[in-house]
Amino acid sequence: MHKGKGFWDYVNKTATCWLWKGGMTRGYGVYAVWRGNRYRNTRAHRVAYELTIGFIPVGLEIDHLCRVRNCVNPAHLEAVTHRENILRGIGPEMLRQRHLAKKQRKAAETA
Ligand SMILES: [Zn+2]
Repeated sequence: MHKGKGFWDYVNKTATCWLWKGGMTRGYGVYAVWRGNRYRNTRAHRVAYELTIGFIPVGLEIDHLCRVRNCVNPAHLEAVTHRENILRGIGPEMLRQRHLAKKQRKAAETA
């Protein structure tokens, strides 16, 4: 675990992104945070957000404006709803194409 080491000791601050050097899960930095009675692995960027900006409202996710998953630079983080996060991830063009494909399927069914 991270005895005696603070959260920011695991961060490599570059000119743009602050890269997480600790443990990772699926590209995201993870950091064990003491919650109540045990350590819980928490996404590092969520910890960074809470340490610098504040409490994350229930139901909101932290989106990376820079799209670098292990970045913990609070200037690159924004609290958004899950839906918004997904929309941003796949982009409007992908959504438009999905919508079109659906429409075409429907047209084919009723023809
Ligand atoms: Zn970044």
